Amino acid sequence: MRKPIIAGNWKMNKTKSEAVSFVQEVKNSIPSASKVEAIVCSPDLFLDALVQEAQGTDLKIAAQNMHFEDNGAFTGETSPAALKDLGVEYVVIGHSERRDMFGETDESVNKKVKAALSHGLTPIICVGETLEEREANKTNDVVTTQVKGALEGLSESDVQKTVVAYEPVWAIGTGKTASSEDANETCGVIREVLSNTFSADTADAVQIQYGGSVKPANIEDLLGQQDIDGALVGGASLEADSFLKLVEAGN
Ligand code: PGA
Repeated sequence: MRKPIIAGNWKMNKTKSEAVSFVQEVKNSIPSASKVEAIVCSPDLFLDALVQEAQGTDLKIAAQNMHFEDNGAFTGETSPAALKDLGVEYVVIGHSERRDMFGETDESVNKKVKAALSHGLTPIICVGETLEEREANKTNDVVTTQVKGALEGLSESDVQKTVVAYEPVWAIGTGKTASSEDANETCGVIREVLSNTFSADTADAVQIQYGGSVKPANIEDLLGQQDIDGALVGGASLEADSFLKLVEAGN
């Protein structure tokens, strides 16, 4: 049985004091033995404080990006080893904003996924089509290429340690959610790619989240779909009460 994951992606929002207050507010409200994994994806600056604050609770802390090298002359970057050392457990890789604005490619995503796994971090790999690609009926091709590219060269057991987030670019931050049926269909396509490329067991094991304008009003519908294992949530994860509603919906 796959455990759904509700991950709040704060993006470049919050100050340290706001981030710490958020964790203080939510950490004891995550039910112990929660049926969903609850994660916040924070800017690097606050990761240390948040890991400390969340210690001993069921709230997990994720980074939003990292470099694939262990160390070196990469001004302004964060290494996987540094994240691991802080106690961070998950890292978002290849978010569409990073692909679009910071030049991430399937190749750099693949390197980052391998680096994350080699340091014991769980990568949350983002894939998804643009509106133009959707209108040209290329959604399945785009996500297939992105998933295969991200997982190229990985062993089956490593693939089983990854999480995939299907985030149609046109649904991110726009208020337009894919219908739960459409979202489920594309998550099903991703599962089929995993099955064909690796094995049915691997396809069964990997959690596939949906992301794009998820909010308390639509989460239950999405969680009710067979191939959707939780959500990666931007805007609706910024307020503690909204984040908790998303977690409660899965419990
Ligand atoms: P959104 O963002 O929930 O604000 O649409 C989702 C994401 O970018 O992960």
